[in-house]
Amino acid sequence: MSNDGKKTITLPYSMSVRELANELDTSAVQVIKILMSNGVMANINQQIDFDTAAVVATELGYTPQVQQEEEVKEEETGEVPLWRRVILEEDPAKLVNRPPVITILGHVDHGKTTLLDAIRHTNVAEGEAGGITQHIGAYQVTHKGRLITFLDTPGHAAFTSMRARGAQGADIVVLVVAADDGVQPQTREAANHAKAAKVPIIVALNKIDKLDANPDRVKRQLAEIGLQPDEWEGDTFVVPVSAKTKQGLDDLLETILLVADSMLIKANPKGKCIGTVVEARLEKTTGPMATLLVQNGTLKVGDVVVAGESWGKIKAMFDQRNKRIKEAPPSTPVVIMGLDQLPEAGDLFQVVSNEKEARQIVAERIAQREAKRSAKRATLEELFARFKSGETKELRLILKADVYGSLEPIVNSLEELGKKEKDMLINVLHAETGNITESDVMLAAASEAIILGFNVEADQDVRHLAENEGVSIRIYNIIYRLLEDVEKALKGLLEPEMVEKVIGKAEVLAIFKISKSNVVAGCRVIEGEIRRNASVRVIRNDQVIHTGEVASLKREKDDVREVRAGMEFGIAIKNFNDFKIGDVIECFVMEQFGG
Ligand code: GDP
Repeated sequence: MSNDGKKTITLPYSMSVRELANELDTSAVQVIKILMSNGVMANINQQIDFDTAAVVATELGYTPQVQQEEEVKEEETGEVPLWRRVILEEDPAKLVNRPPVITILGHVDHGKTTLLDAIRHTNVAEGEAGGITQHIGAYQVTHKGRLITFLDTPGHAAFTSMRARGAQGADIVVLVVAADDGVQPQTREAANHAKAAKVPIIVALNKIDKLDANPDRVKRQLAEIGLQPDEWEGDTFVVPVSAKTKQGLDDLLETILLVADSMLIKANPKGKCIGTVVEARLEKTTGPMATLLVQNGTLKVGDVVVAGESWGKIKAMFDQRNKRIKEAPPSTPVVIMGLDQLPEAGDLFQVVSNEKEARQIVAERIAQREAKRSAKRATLEELFARFKSGETKELRLILKADVYGSLEPIVNSLEELGKKEKDMLINVLHAETGNITESDVMLAAASEAIILGFNVEADQDVRHLAENEGVSIRIYNIIYRLLEDVEKALKGLLEPEMVEKVIGKAEVLAIFKISKSNVVAGCRVIEGEIRRNASVRVIRNDQVIHTGEVASLKREKDDVREVRAGMEFGIAIKNFNDFKIGDVIECFVMEQFGG
């Protein structure tokens, strides 16, 4: 308790709205409302700084104080990533040094990309002609004969989403801070991420070539956020650099090796092979290509790997110069060919003993994801059922419209509607112009709201996220239809509106005549997925020549429920045998509108 009787609360330099709400023992919606009333529009996942959070905390009757570095909570560090656990379980006698893996973080425009390019161009492995020819999401350089691995997409999923999964991939963070601009919100956020992940930070004080660079001011700011510079007896190395003139780059690499030497950066090259997916893309001729960062063991051509929900036997491996290689030891980024579909950046990969084991693991993962998804589904109808049973007394809505002029009348009408219903409340959590975004979906998921759109769109990624999070999106182009639906929802009369949704497309590559009436098309999924229990259309030269049901769906000899982007499969369609090579098969389902 502080002197004035208010509760003292310790908050970090930067936190998300959701985290702040937890700290303050209130709902995220309450926090968002207070922020709004102070002129700050924030969504639930937005990072806000201490000063902003302090305003909310004060309004809720707390005396906020800033958290010092050592107080970063244990629980925020997440669990030890699996690949680190694998290394910890190795026989210490078998561990050998591996190159450190570096990720570069920092505020936008402070020079992350420029710095990565500068390092890459000046320090590609000595003596190797050609240099690095392609971006694969990570690269290695040598400094004084020693290798250093960089993840080369700043603020990459390979660091941020890995953190979310408790699977941090980097050993050291280089935090880029522009000497003319100083510590900014994303600098603080990055510093907090690194601290929470217990990854050491080296500051690259960039743009020191600029006339208005003010290194001393930046060092003071760094000290204020708990990064005490080494020259002031702190333990954070601050290296002045210019990504533009390339000044200081050697010092930076030197410092990286120095910090690496003070840590235990080891792995067992002969141990269990595990690592992280850095990025993945679909190539027309070779199918899925994935960049993997090996973190323990040695990856070899011919190994069977499972990465997220994809698996395959490695047909070929390439290094950063697009040269074929047969083996990749720890800390090496490699591009592999042979996965059956695209894994996601940040997924862990591991080598398994055979294809059967790989199939089993993937099947279990898919089943788990499905189970989670159906548990989370809260459609408009379900929410209404809970409404009726008295579990919920509030219909929460997020409203997105094309122009402000339509937003206002809709909000007013919704409020009127709400007043008519005695026991139930309509609560418009958020009303804004613009298309439906991923943050709208996250806000809806967190607050169990439904998203209503008026003359706006939700792209594929947004719909995908909504589906995973179990969020309903309904889009209208006539105001009274929207209001009618909300009214019906309040009265429990809403009929699910069925619309067609295309979920995937495939191309016919080969045709197999099993018998006269049984023809199977060998296909590859171009995008999305093809499901056994869905409907399909056969399209030739942009004309639909057949619409019907799937008779069978097979991967090699096995019947499967679904096949996804990049996979090859066989399909038979009920009452249809007339496939031609080059036909496009479009798969669709009928589902509740937006749900
Ligand atoms: P990022 O958003 O952090 O990746 O920043 P960029 O690498 O895109 O850099 C932002 C801008 O700063 C670009 O116009 C760069 O040319 C410029 N910039 C980056 N590093 C330096 C530097 O050391 N000195 C100067 N003068 N400009 C730089």
